[in-house]
Amino acid sequence: MKWLPLFLDMRRGPVLLVGAGEAVRSKLRILLAAGARVRWYPTDNDRSLPGIAAGDSARIEFAEGDAVAADLDGVIAVLCAGAGDAGIALAARARAIGLPVNVMDDLDHSTFIFPAIVDRGDVVVAIGTGGTSPVVARRVRERIEAMLPSRIGELASFIGRRRKAIHARVPEFALRRRFWERVVDGPIGAAVLAGRPRDAEMAIEAIADASAFAGAASPSCVDGTVTLVGAGPGDPDLLTVKALRALQDADVVFYDELVSPEILDRARRDAARVPVGRRVGKPGIGQDAVNRLLIDAARAGRRAVRLKGGDAFVFGRGGEEVAALRAAGVAYSVIPGITAALGAAAEFEVPLTYRNEARRVTFLTAHKATDAADVDWSALTDLEMTVVVYMGMTAAPAIRAGLLAAGRSPHTPVGVFARVTRPDSRAAVGVLEDLPELVRQIDGGPAILVIGDVVAHSAPWCASHLAQTRPNILMAAE
Ligand code: SAH
Repeated sequence: MKWLPLFLDMRRGPVLLVGAGEAVRSKLRILLAAGARVRWYPTDNDRSLPGIAAGDSARIEFAEGDAVAADLDGVIAVLCAGAGDAGIALAARARAIGLPVNVMDDLDHSTFIFPAIVDRGDVVVAIGTGGTSPVVARRVRERIEAMLPSRIGELASFIGRRRKAIHARVPEFALRRRFWERVVDGPIGAAVLAGRPRDAEMAIEAIADASAFAGAASPSCVDGTVTLVGAGPGDPDLLTVKALRALQDADVVFYDELVSPEILDRARRDAARVPVGRRVGKPGIGQDAVNRLLIDAARAGRRAVRLKGGDAFVFGRGGEEVAALRAAGVAYSVIPGITAALGAAAEFEVPLTYRNEARRVTFLTAHKATDAADVDWSALTDLEMTVVVYMGMTAAPAIRAGLLAAGRSPHTPVGVFARVTRPDSRAAVGVLEDLPELVRQIDGGPAILVIGDVVAHSAPWCASHLAQTRPNILMAAE
């Protein structure tokens, strides 16, 4: 690290600014936003201030005469922008008496440089590249801008206003930290971030009044939480920003076998990792045992993440876990994930709906459909419906039989999409009568089956001989 980022209190005294042009005006805007008083030598005598509010411009004092000989008494920093040799000479004087100096685009004469700034009120992020590449700094800033909740500064001030009062009541440091973590990570923080400060206000009064939290043994303050997190279909970059945050905060992660190791890698280094899922053929520890583990972890004060492939509420038994947590009175939240169907749709360009062609989508599981009689196929004969089958590989012959018996054409386009969004993903496309053969071709799961005319719009279909031998009926119908 060549430059140490520091936060300077700009209200401590005047800042001396020398220079002209757009460069100086952009510095003025930053300084005024930080509450500075500015003494400005406009070296070209242009005093216009476009885009600066009258209230702010009241903090600008215009200086006259020779900037190089400016009075530095009481000044807290010196900035030169577009001031040429006069700037360099003044900078030398300022450095000699130990004042922080910035000469724009001139590292040799500067003792500090301006970072790229993310400004969210009390929360400020400074990004530096040591003056090497402002463009890189800007790109990093864009990413951070996108990642930070827009009201994060409001959350910081919300806490700041209550810090003293809470600290007087909760003298113990560890307990206090837990208290604030609970505020930030729980419904109170969520209310502030959602722009509902009144709700947050009421909620924090309620927990702060429960004098219970003053004692170390108090469960209300040391209770942990369970977060159900949808991990998506495999590619770790498809985790939501929220999911990533939950993983980085976790004390323990209870995960399904379907969750890829790359995703598990994104959890906090020292989080415990506990496999709890089933795999085809191998029983897991059972749903009741999983529920118990989650509840016990939360009651022990841990931040537990229940990590599931895809989305927790799509064939993920998330509903049962939520019911158990609710009944146990444990705090929990749910973070959605990209379900396998959507992962496959994006990767292989299968539009699940299509204007005038596919107006409905059904997600179904055929796990238990060893014979066609186990599924009500009559609901699936609608030609405008795309059918997505989860856990349907072994049942493929039964699915074919059921759909054919219900009257769907043997030439209906179908796709089998395996290990979607993972490096070894694969697709096999064809027609309904070949479904079991397509399942064999993809060489192992997990895989979903997509049945419906939309498959003829998919990338693998368009790239295959099918696109020629079977003229796209859908396009023709338009
Ligand atoms: N909750 C998960 C589904 C769990 S059920 C979700 O929302 O995606 C397990 C089934 O999901 C598998 O049998 C398979 O049909 C499907 N599946 C999960 N991950 C998959 C992947 N990466 N590629 C294809 N299918 C997948």
